[in-house]
Amino acid sequence: MTVKAIEILRVGVPFETYGPRQGMRPGLNTSPWLVNESLMVRIETADGMEGWGEGFGHFGNPGTEAMLRDLIAPWFIGRDETDLESLMDDAHKSFFGFGRHGPCMYALSALDTALWDIRAQRAGRPLYRLLGGPAGDVTITRYASLMRYGGDEDAIARNTERAAGLGFPMVKLHERDMPAFMAAREAAPEGVAITLDVNCPWSVEEACAVARELKAREHVKGGFLWLEEPIWPPEDFDGLARVRREGTPVSGGENVGSLTEFTRAFRSGAFDVAQPSVAKMGGVSTVKDVFPLGRDAGLRVVPHSFYWGPGYVATAHIIAAQPQTEWLETAFIEYERNPHDLIDPVDPVMTLPADRPGLGFNPDRALFERYSISRTEILL
Ligand SMILES: [Mg+2]
Repeated sequence: MTVKAIEILRVGVPFETYGPRQGMRPGLNTSPWLVNESLMVRIETADGMEGWGEGFGHFGNPGTEAMLRDLIAPWFIGRDETDLESLMDDAHKSFFGFGRHGPCMYALSALDTALWDIRAQRAGRPLYRLLGGPAGDVTITRYASLMRYGGDEDAIARNTERAAGLGFPMVKLHERDMPAFMAAREAAPEGVAITLDVNCPWSVEEACAVARELKAREHVKGGFLWLEEPIWPPEDFDGLARVRREGTPVSGGENVGSLTEFTRAFRSGAFDVAQPSVAKMGGVSTVKDVFPLGRDAGLRVVPHSFYWGPGYVATAHIIAAQPQTEWLETAFIEYERNPHDLIDPVDPVMTLPADRPGLGFNPDRALFERYSISRTEILL
């Protein structure tokens, strides 16, 4: 069947963080972060099927949106979507010159995920089942990914305690200093893991020093489960391997752009935990293949999914399809209203129902209308 229409939507849902509002990367956004935005595509086929996908993300959405609207979505219109692999292969080969990473790949990621949604619906199965997962409903566990609180130890301790009290097995911080790290570690009981996402700030030497300090705090309730993206630049895989040798596990991969690059990262010994991102690195087609690669390399794959839209749901399906269970990253904020029934950021358990084909993404369109930032439809 051919692609008849592609709707491109940006929706920003207001949220509460229970602490001071900061951008995730200091200096990137100067105004407070008031709405959590999703850039979505909805593909409609000539026979009336519709599939949803999501592209990265947040404050960079205008770039991905322009790439979709002006270049990539029009290219997909009128093409046959049933042979997903060859369609995406053609698309990647047509657009790679505009970036094997960044807005071009984010746009292709959104469309790829939407096509997988349609494929699974045509098969009459939930996506996880199509990807080799079990029959029946699948329950997976969320982990709480905290907003950046700018080192505010009270807010960090309060929110860590709250997430632990709700039953989350792991709390991830987006802070950068030892007092902030320790505020979380001390606030959570020993059985709750604490991980540290620092978003690429340090040289290899600086990161090694932090990793040693963290190792020395192992006696405090088991210490820290991993240190995420400690160095600049994120693609310095040999540098990451050096940080790992200090004894604190290292995670990363949300800024890895392809399977080829992941293979190189695994060969270099860059990660203990790989974190591919479905809205960044090529959608379901690519992220599903990182899991077996990671297993072969003997490491955990715990995807990046600081999203609430179809990319979040697709990540849950990919996790649900794996032979071993893994946690689903969930932004620990409270939306004014949950935008669909598969996201509840304060519930540590998520169930994907077996009787919903595809992604099972049923958004609240009235809420989308209310919080719409932009909407474009590309038609045949
Ligand atoms: Mg991260």
